[in-house]
Amino acid sequence: MAKAKLEYIWLDGSEPTQGLRGKTKIVKDFSGKLEDCPMWSFDGSSTGQAEGGASDCLLKPVFICPDPGRKNGYIVMTEVLNADGTPHPTNGRATIDDEDDDFWFGFEQEYFLWDPETNKPLGFPENGYPAPQGPYYCSVGATNAYGRNIVEEHLDLCLDAGLNVEGINGEVAAGQWEFQIFAKGAESAGDQIWVARYLLERTAEAYGIAVNWHCKPVKGDWNGSGMHANFSNTTLRTAGDKAVYDKICNAFAPADIIKAHIDVYGADNHMRLTGLHETQSIDKFSYGISDRGASIRIPIYTVDNGWNGYLEDRRPNSAADPYKVAARIIKTVKPVS
Ligand code: ADP
Ligand code: MN
Ligand code: MN
Ligand code: MN
Ligand code: MN
Repeated sequence: MAKAKLEYIWLDGSEPTQGLRGKTKIVKDFSGKLEDCPMWSFDGSSTGQAEGGASDCLLKPVFICPDPGRKNGYIVMTEVLNADGTPHPTNGRATIDDEDDDFWFGFEQEYFLWDPETNKPLGFPENGYPAPQGPYYCSVGATNAYGRNIVEEHLDLCLDAGLNVEGINGEVAAGQWEFQIFAKGAESAGDQIWVARYLLERTAEAYGIAVNWHCKPVKGDWNGSGMHANFSNTTLRTAGDKAVYDKICNAFAPADIIKAHIDVYGADNHMRLTGLHETQSIDKFSYGISDRGASIRIPIYTVDNGWNGYLEDRRPNSAADPYKVAARIIKTVKPVS
């Protein structure tokens, strides 16, 4: 049996946006099962997660999938623990309160493919700008769609890895794209988004292209990037009553709750949540049926389905940690469910 390559990946201590790190463990006679992935450790002083004098942080495997881009490869998503086995402060996954996987999440991950040499999105000329927004969304053809080879390769890798990708599309700005991932269980949704992000980074890297996760990487009349969080629990899925939706949406409205959500919805979100470009202002909260200018949209599907369905929080941005986003939504929704 060939030796297996296990890529242990984790979230580092970068501020204000955590990044991905990974290193390879070679394992003999590997079963392919999560329970056979040993704990591991790394130098936390090199990732902003520990001091040099006591540098060891632990990696606890929480999710495994095949790595279709690598011979005999697996990707092992891990949580970072302190040396004493308690969750590290950078470990958002450990803050999720969803033991029974009652919460379902569908994240819409937007991002820019980015040329590190020009420091601009793919499709932007070295000097100046391409034609204004309009033709790029869901486009086809070399004058409007940029980086499809990377996007397609990434999609195949995600599907071959067994990730529950539900779709992809070209987005409103040149060089901007989206993928959607859905899972029953908040941890699983977060795990799959992070593995998909890892696969995208690595795929683009092979072409000398970067991924820009910032929520407003191009100033001016160019769309920012979000990570809309579609969510439901049994209460929302089986409500059958508008009043249940009003009650849950109103739980998001108090000023201190708005702040608690925005705190984990991604860095620099004030640059994106301006009240323009299908967003609500960062300091306001509103909800409405089919309202893409609201903080939370009630999809028409939910209403047509007799008030049984899900909600879309449109505020999380492309650089947010899906674990922290999910944990916060659950914290607000659970007590009123
Ligand atoms: P739009 O661009 O119109 O906002 P998308 O089709 O890109 O919508 O994304 C909608 C997401 O909602 C999908 O990823 C889907 O998985 C998710 N979704 C659908 N039903 C539910 C549900 N009951 N609970 C949570 N998420 C859901
Ligand atoms: Mn769970
Ligand atoms: Mn979408
Ligand atoms: Mn989108
Ligand atoms: Mn959406």
